Amino acid sequence: MDAPKLPIPAWPKACRCGEVWSRSEWPELPPVGRYLAGADGWIELRTCVCGATLAVAASDLAPLEVCPSGIVS
Ligand SMILES: [Zn+2]
Repeated sequence: MDAPKLPIPAWPKACRCGEVWSRSEWPELPPVGRYLAGADGWIELRTCVCGATLAVAASDLAPLEVCPSGIVS
């Protein structure tokens, strides 16, 4: 079957191992790094507990980093 090429999904981020990471849980994962994905902006990579590398658009993270009110103590 043909698998359509999907854009980076919104939250929560599901790993192929079955773990699902919410936006607030994402910063707790070990960071791998970031890379610039052209017009899509920066992509942030982190390692899941299973060892797989997950990717999230940095633009989806910015609001949490800037304004963590009520989510991160
Ligand atoms: Zn995983």
